[in-house]
Amino acid sequence: MPVPARTCIGCRAVCQAGDLVRLAAAGDRVIVAPGGQSAGRGAWLHPSRDCFFAAVKARAFARAFHRSMTMPAAEEFMAALVAQAAHAARRAVSQSE
Ligand SMILES: [Zn+2]
Repeated sequence: MPVPARTCIGCRAVCQAGDLVRLAAAGDRVIVAPGGQSAGRGAWLHPSRDCFFAAVKARAFARAFHRSMTMPAAEEFMAALVAQAAHAARRAVSQSE
């Protein structure tokens, strides 16, 4: 089954969805989509500080969600991104066993 290609809104690299973390909008706040799933409009980002700050600088979140977004604290957001990426990686490993 082909893996859908997604574009990181930070570095603009096209990657497999499994390499990126799904983001969603909760009101005017950007959140890490729980379980990597979300209905409606979404954005994808590498769980990387470089990509996060590149996206902030380029106002990529506002572009992705078509409205101005309030960003959470960078440290808090990075922790959520990394946790979600680790969760997705564990799930991929357990599915392959
Ligand atoms: Zn990236």
